[in-house]
Amino acid sequence: MPNIRPQRIGRIGITSLLDGDLDASLDKIPDPADREAAIRLIAEAGGDKALTMDCNAFMLDLPGGPALIDVGTGSMMHARLGHLHARLAETGVAHADIRTIFLTHVHKDHFGGLVDADGRAMFPNAEIVLHEVEAAFWFDRAPETLPERARATLPLNAKAFGPYAGRIRRVKEGGGLPGVAARLAPGHTPGHTAWIVETGEAPIVAWGDVVHLAALHLPRPETAMIYDLDPHTAVKTRRHMLQWVCESRAVVAASHLDAPGLGHIEWDGERYRFAPLAAG
Ligand SMILES: [Zn+2]
Repeated sequence: MPNIRPQRIGRIGITSLLDGDLDASLDKIPDPADREAAIRLIAEAGGDKALTMDCNAFMLDLPGGPALIDVGTGSMMHARLGHLHARLAETGVAHADIRTIFLTHVHKDHFGGLVDADGRAMFPNAEIVLHEVEAAFWFDRAPETLPERARATLPLNAKAFGPYAGRIRRVKEGGGLPGVAARLAPGHTPGHTAWIVETGEAPIVAWGDVVHLAALHLPRPETAMIYDLDPHTAVKTRRHMLQWVCESRAVVAASHLDAPGLGHIEWDGERYRFAPLAAG
């Protein structure tokens, strides 16, 4: 499996950058019946391997220069992760060349690569762009009003975003850059965002955590997990987004589908499936 896959979709180049992988746990499924169904589906899909989530970020080749969608974990998680910087270097694009970083949401497996282990900015010339709903939730609220799980990550947020003060841009629904638009896909976090990229052909829909585990959430989108701050809303979003990208034949660029995470969501009459793009 190559880690870097440049693809051309219409007039847009997109390259998947594999940061690494992390283990998911079915203990994160609160409903016992859901959990039982999940155990069956994961076993069907090959057992433990189906419980591993790849962590993909994406580079877009835009008319105004290269941009990233998410930046991996940096040094904020374990040693199987944090490879985005090396992957980026392999493409020949320098960190200083990155002008825009679109974030799907404010979780460390998506923003950790903004800084090095000492908290220095890795992208000296990049503007960070995120949905205003996501920014308001993490950056504007008094810490004591946040759910405990969210509050626990505030020191990491400060470490990653502090060095970018003055170059964080909040956008409204539909905002971003010409041809790249934010679309709220809430539930995982309140402002979790899909970035919709116009290509002249089918759009690219880049999402973070609409699907955590393909072997579970494609056959059974209704499975709530407590990875999501609001599991009920996350289920609604997952169903809606899967149906939408399936019917529209959009190219999905997904953080946690198997690397390189680029492909179509198809309906086989019983369940959704992920059909990766052919190698570019
Ligand atoms: Zn994630």
